[in-house]
Amino acid sequence: MTRARPGGETRFGSKGLREAITWLDKSTLPLVQQPIRVQEAMLIDEAVRILDQIFPPGLQQSYDRCGFQCGRTDRPLTGILVGLDVSDELIEEALEQGCNLLVTHHPLLFDPLTRIGNSGRVERLVHRVLEAGLAVYAAHTNADAMPDTVSGALADALGLRNTRVLDPLKGILRQLVVYIPADHAETFREALFQVGAGHLGNYGEASFGVLGRGTFKPLDGAQPFLGQVGQREEVEEWRLEFVFEAWKTPAILEAMTLAHPYQEVAYQLYPLEQKVSGYGMGLVGDLEQEIPLQTALQRIKDFLGCPLRYSRPSQTPLEGGRIRRIALCGGAGASLWPLAQAAGADLYLSSEFKHHHFLDAGGRLVLVEAGHAETEIPACDRLRQRITPLFRTFAVLNARSSQNPTVYLT
Ligand SMILES: [Zn+2]
Repeated sequence: MTRARPGGETRFGSKGLREAITWLDKSTLPLVQQPIRVQEAMLIDEAVRILDQIFPPGLQQSYDRCGFQCGRTDRPLTGILVGLDVSDELIEEALEQGCNLLVTHHPLLFDPLTRIGNSGRVERLVHRVLEAGLAVYAAHTNADAMPDTVSGALADALGLRNTRVLDPLKGILRQLVVYIPADHAETFREALFQVGAGHLGNYGEASFGVLGRGTFKPLDGAQPFLGQVGQREEVEEWRLEFVFEAWKTPAILEAMTLAHPYQEVAYQLYPLEQKVSGYGMGLVGDLEQEIPLQTALQRIKDFLGCPLRYSRPSQTPLEGGRIRRIALCGGAGASLWPLAQAAGADLYLSSEFKHHHFLDAGGRLVLVEAGHAETEIPACDRLRQRITPLFRTFAVLNARSSQNPTVYLT
């Protein structure tokens, strides 16, 4: 059955879409390792592989459970519904909308289950998901680590400029050093760029090379590309170096092996420990001009639509009560307040602050606490926006049902 998508296209029926099997522009999708073919039909298994490229599991926190969660992956994908949590409402909405893949920010399966019976919210929802023929995928702390997704939705709504990551990730980069005969260097370099080597922040196709001379002697049994068995060879070679995100390693090593002429490729692969400004938790940025604290608070309240709790003014003697620099972290980011303070922020917006946070954060920094769900609901549309370009012949919808498990007494 076909069904209208927002924008008037049909999921399967458009001739234009059928003909529009195209290769996506990699420059707009820096996390994708290689071009993905837009297609009309795919199994959920394939959809999961694509989602893993949009939301690399390598970006998640060590405690987290991102990625595929449960469901039959051998079923054809019918559509994707994006929401904050798996809930009864979300399941019912997916069935109404004809979507059989739920992409949620919070994982349904987080604490390991040793049995699946009839008790507890998670067990009950797992049953419902499986009985309904749905599948669940979570984009949680890996999405948090993408600056334009969870915290980015808040920063954009508040009009922050010159944003930078508050708590950059480290340990997610790898460096490849490889030796290649001089007359193969250009095509080899191009082959590695094609699968995402040399990507650093807003820069692509970064590499370093130095020309030198390598030696080798093919031994018995070798079938050398250059030289003869039993004779030492000396060859002009480039030593090429590339940096890339760790999750690209399998694709890059495969491309390296395919593009290299030698039977045995000489290379070294190193983990890099430095922090990466392009990925991490929270953001800090500046308003176009400073505004009174009360104006900033009202702006936040109007956007999130929930009451705020914030530092008592006498706790934070903000000079003139004016705000210019704002740090924020969608979700439970209270523990990052010292980084907000170190970044010179006047105000730090997050959720789930503890009593001692308000006591400890003195000086200029005003802590502002909003509801957990309210700070993350705007991110759901960012998830949908990231997913949609790679599933252009499928419905990718935002949940209309309530995404907030709490209400306020007014
Ligand atoms: Zn959350």
